[in-house]
Amino acid sequence: MGIGNERGIELFKRAGALKEGHFRLTNGNDGIHYVAKDLLRENDDDAMREICMGIAQDFANFKIDTVIGPESGAVKYAQYTAMFLSELTGRKVVAIRARKSNDGQKQFYIDEQDLRWVLCRDILIAEDIFTTGKSAAKVVDLSTACGGNVVGVGGVWNRGAVTAEDLGVEVFIAQINRQYPTFEPGEDCPGCRNKVLYDMQFGHGKSLVGTHPLAIAQ
Ligand SMILES: [Zn+2]
Repeated sequence: MGIGNERGIELFKRAGALKEGHFRLTNGNDGIHYVAKDLLRENDDDAMREICMGIAQDFANFKIDTVIGPESGAVKYAQYTAMFLSELTGRKVVAIRARKSNDGQKQFYIDEQDLRWVLCRDILIAEDIFTTGKSAAKVVDLSTACGGNVVGVGGVWNRGAVTAEDLGVEVFIAQINRQYPTFEPGEDCPGCRNKVLYDMQFGHGKSLVGTHPLAIAQ
């Protein structure tokens, strides 16, 4: 079921959303692969649809009333997934968003007019990329606090070996399960070892300009 690693990664490559090079990652480590998830959404609507059909197929045997997508990346995935679930099951499935608060606390909330789609409803949380799974876990808790019954979490790419337990759910299915290694900057990192310049467009390479010989402003 679902689309699987091979097809999923092919779609990311087709959309130009899987980069190879030398990247400084958010956690301070280096990587030689970078998933530029926004590019898939921006460049390849057909790929998004195919991935969301995979998610919908994986959850078609569960009773789902509402798909919730955490802002901002997952909203469109939630919409397509709800649309395909409606098609596959012949039941009305609604998509809503979990909004991100603007206070810098990285908390989520649900618009008041959308709460009726959560209270006493069976919920699927749809997320795009799972690195730590923290955002999805927060939306699971939020949905439960709003009176929803969270059936599971579905998503696009689990690149952090996130588990259902990490998310606080029984069922967690990602369409792609592939973890790329990350390295301590230095001799362990193939990019550093081979003196590959840091990517200035993706990741945090830019922040190293002036302090690292492999970080050169373009
Ligand atoms: Zn490196």
